[in-house]
Amino acid sequence: MPPFEYKVIRSKRIASGATISVHPERGVTVRAPFWLPAFAIKKFVEEKSDWIMKHLSVRSPRPEEKKYEHGEKHLFFGREYPLNIIESDTPGRTRVEINEEILTASVYKGYVGPKRITELKDGMLRWYLETGILVITEKVNYYSEQIGVDYSRIDIKKVSSIWGSCSPDNKLCFNRKLIMAPHEIVNYVVIHEVCHMVHRNHSSHFWGLVAKFDPRYKEHRRWLHRNHLLLSI
Ligand SMILES: [Zn+2]
Repeated sequence: MPPFEYKVIRSKRIASGATISVHPERGVTVRAPFWLPAFAIKKFVEEKSDWIMKHLSVRSPRPEEKKYEHGEKHLFFGREYPLNIIESDTPGRTRVEINEEILTASVYKGYVGPKRITELKDGMLRWYLETGILVITEKVNYYSEQIGVDYSRIDIKKVSSIWGSCSPDNKLCFNRKLIMAPHEIVNYVVIHEVCHMVHRNHSSHFWGLVAKFDPRYKEHRRWLHRNHLLLSI
């Protein structure tokens, strides 16, 4: 699924190509002639994805660039945690830990200036990915069991054009930005991809199954579409 939703309007004209428009309330609309197959529309949208994202971004809130300073807030599954930086005497990688209230990063005191920031940033990213995959795997296990399907593997990747995907051999892939999103939003993406193991399309049967496990899926899909830029990792 691309990180935005879009509506397709078919036209009866033969001699016309597909066009895309982005509207603040109506979102993304694709106008395509009736004879253009669905896969061609999907490909067209994917090709224009950067352009669409740029137009959507103008209206989305933008996060500030992270400075990795003491007390700075960092998102983890929808909750903001202040960053507690402690100096360590041992050279090596930055270690990160979380408790109920606080995110603690211990960075070698010999690292200063840009090196310190890079070390903190890398340490945080490693921690996000290691912890994030555990949480997402738990969610996938839960919903796969509920829905009665088996996946072959789970990956978390840096991708800009999708939130999640499910391959024909049931490999699931999730956008690493989801680690910052609230649980109900991540649950929706997990349910969406797990349901693709049953229905490999976006038919009404597919959405019916999604709705069974996430009755508020439309709201969650809209949230992703509006807030994707807040999730910067
Ligand atoms: Zn899908």
